[in-house]
Amino acid sequence: GSTIGILGGGQLGRMMALAAARLGYRCHILDPHEQPCAAEVSAEFTRAAYDDRDALRRFADECDVVTYEFENIPVEPLAVLADKLAPSTRSLEVAQDRAAEKRFIEGCGVRVAPWREVDSAADIEVALEALGAPILLKSRRYGYDGKGQAWVRRAEEAAEAWDAIGRQPAVAEAGMTFGAEFSLILARGANGETSAFPPTLNHHEGGILRTSTVPAGPQIAPFTDQAIAAARAIEEALGHVGVLTVEFFACADGPVVNEIAPRVHNSGHWTIEGAQTSQFEQHLRAILGLPLGDPTLVSAGATMENLIGDDVDRWADFVAEPGAHLHLYGKGEARPGRKMGHVTRLGSAASGPSVD
Ligand code: ATP
Ligand code: MG
Ligand code: MG
Repeated sequence: GSTIGILGGGQLGRMMALAAARLGYRCHILDPHEQPCAAEVSAEFTRAAYDDRDALRRFADECDVVTYEFENIPVEPLAVLADKLAPSTRSLEVAQDRAAEKRFIEGCGVRVAPWREVDSAADIEVALEALGAPILLKSRRYGYDGKGQAWVRRAEEAAEAWDAIGRQPAVAEAGMTFGAEFSLILARGANGETSAFPPTLNHHEGGILRTSTVPAGPQIAPFTDQAIAAARAIEEALGHVGVLTVEFFACADGPVVNEIAPRVHNSGHWTIEGAQTSQFEQHLRAILGLPLGDPTLVSAGATMENLIGDDVDRWADFVAEPGAHLHLYGKGEARPGRKMGHVTRLGSAASGPSVD
């Protein structure tokens, strides 16, 4: 069997490795941490920094294809992986820098929130003036789960916000008014074949995804065609191979892209039990040159609930609940805000937990 290399050993890598094992592939994880949760379910683990070229070279020698489960990886050292990397470094460099990402998406003719580059507290005041209050300051790199972000309502808050995000290159976005948020998870093969999962309605709390529901419902339905066209345009322009996720705001005048991820995504975890093909298997199919799988629902709907921090203490309730599909990531300490697992329930969306 072939060996799939995965850069990053978090829960996304873990679930990808589990999907790979089912298809008869071995996985080799590369991650700088001591005991990443994906390593436990993989054949091999290399503990190395992502910019350690010697380690990357040895890793590539042992793998037939290399992919990544997160986008915060320095791009230059990956040149040693050459043609084995999918998606390519193009998708990575666009998606790891919010300014590059927004420019790229706008270049595809797709709407994002009005934005400005910010490199100082003074720039924040300029952006506030130009975009109108409130604005959301986001570090260009390394942000996830709402980290590296700060809202700014008045010019007097600029200095504090600049400090709060660690005085690093950032973007400021106009605060958007939207009825709901949704995401599209697409896959594209090297031969150009594409496939999209149904749009997923996402509910966030404190910048962290709380629940994802399909079908996304009447709030989202009018946006679906336009959103799929936008996501396809981005995917094609990147020449993306693998799964790509596009997050949207459902605004009164149409869908607006929030951000993209060049990978499988938390909002797609429902596909493990809820779709004919999971997002993890779909990603593997795309990067391995296999035909893409069927992305349709297996039941009337599905709801995924994240277990964040001490939510995981309720695991025994979920184990006992008929029809609740429990996933625990084997991460150890349940720090506040840390994603420890998730639960998926099939059936009509209405039978899942309230998303309002
Ligand atoms: P992740 O990568 O984990 O999805 P992130 O740290 O990259 O999160 P964003 O997706 O940029 O963060 O933002 C997190 C949430 O904050 C969004 O899902 C949305 O609820 C809210 N948000 C982000 N940008 C805006 C905006 N311009 N206006 C209003 N709300 C916003
Ligand atoms: Mg993000
Ligand atoms: Mg996001």
